[in-house]
Amino acid sequence: MTSFFSKVEPYITQADIHDKVKDLGQKIAQDYAGQELLCVCILKGSILFFSDLIRAIDDDIRVDFMRISSYGNDLESSGVVQIIQDLSFDIRNKHVLIVEDIVDTGNTLSALLDALRLRNPASLKICSLLSKPSRRKKDVTIDYLGFTIDDHFVVGYGLDAAEQYRNLPFIGKLNT
Ligand code: 5GP
Repeated sequence: MTSFFSKVEPYITQADIHDKVKDLGQKIAQDYAGQELLCVCILKGSILFFSDLIRAIDDDIRVDFMRISSYGNDLESSGVVQIIQDLSFDIRNKHVLIVEDIVDTGNTLSALLDALRLRNPASLKICSLLSKPSRRKKDVTIDYLGFTIDDHFVVGYGLDAAEQYRNLPFIGKLNT
């Protein structure tokens, strides 16, 4: 491992991620069988999870992208969300699955859901790779969850620390 990665302690392996993503894809394909599904990648943290997940969904889906920024301090998001890049599709009467990297306090997702519900989708569900329930401030239902983790700051597989580490193929704990 190069010095670039020396602060990162392996936490969830590539093999475990692969197996979990395959399971999630199968469940999603079963649940939405016969329905047209729009999968929404929340940039940037979900990129790797999203690209693997959609390949694990053996069904005809559409994809879209959204970039949001959540105001807050170093420790916590505030729940005030700004849409930096909006969806390209009108989601009215569509089945929408939001694909997130991690739900921490839940502030960001809760605000995003409120904003998207106003657009009257036929259904709106959440798939998140990771969840830190011990940090939760807002109650959000995660319909499809990869891993529940303890209160660690994690990086890799799309997740960053100041834009670094997104390209790690596994998830690690960042030791500072
Ligand atoms: P919230 O607290 O609003 O649920 O989380 C908002 C965002 O904070 C997540 O989408 C993610 O971008 C970031 N975040 C929360 N916990 C972590 C973490 O452990 N690692 C990284 N890289 N980002 C995190």
